[in-house]
This record gives sequence, structure tokens and C-alpha cells, in this order.
Amino acid sequence: MQSGSAIVISMTDSDAVRARLRARRAELAHRASRVDDDLRRKSEPLSPDFAEQANQRGNDEVLGAIGESARFEISQIDAALARMDRDQYGDCGRCGASIEPARLEAVPYANVCRKCATELEQQRASIARL
Ligand SMILES: [Zn+2]
Repeated sequence: MQSGSAIVISMTDSDAVRARLRARRAELAHRASRVDDDLRRKSEPLSPDFAEQANQRGNDEVLGAIGESARFEISQIDAALARMDRDQYGDCGRCGASIEPARLEAVPYANVCRKCATELEQQRASIARL
């Protein structure tokens, strides 16, 4: 019996996916809190040197961006875990089709299928051009 084996594997794998999402979430939470610490510390006063100040501010901006992207990914992971609890994990939130296993493998918290992701990307791109 070969047919349906992929589905069986992905069903029994849901614990593994959950574990993977949780591990990734913990890693991101750790990163975000380290960034927050770095930003809060400010033990390093701004240098009197203007170029050095710009450098310090630039670092803060980079740190802020890292923290923001970590927090965004955490929210995506939380949403994916919630979808798992509702048994909707792997369903496209836009068209309802099953999200391609390869896509879930690459982006475990993906909430739309590849076709919808491409369409959304194109919509965003055309809005950006307006
Ligand atoms: Zn879709």
C-alpha cells in the first residue's frame, strides 16, 4: 500500500512539527529578549564623537529590526500552533487547499498555500507600485 503514505506520515509527524515549532519559538523568544536587554542596557553612553554616535544609533536600529522580526515570527508560530489545536494546520487560510508538504517543510508556520502566497506577493507588489 503506497497510496496515502505521505498523508499518514504527515499526520504522525504532527508532534514532531509541534516540537520543531516550539523549539524555534524558544530560540526566537531568547533572541528577542537578548535584543531587548541590549537595547535597554544603554550602559554605554552615547559617544561624544558624532560618527561614533551614528554608529551606536545604527546598531540600535539593527537590533530593533532583529527583535521585531523575531517577534513577528513568534506570532506566526503561535498562530500555527493554534491552527494545530483546531486541526486546521496545513490548510490554506485563503483558499482552503492543503498547503504543499514541501512548503510546510521549509516554512512550518506557513498559513497559505504556495499559489496564494504568490498571489498575495503580487498584490503587495502592485500596491507598492501605486
Ligand atoms: Zn491557497
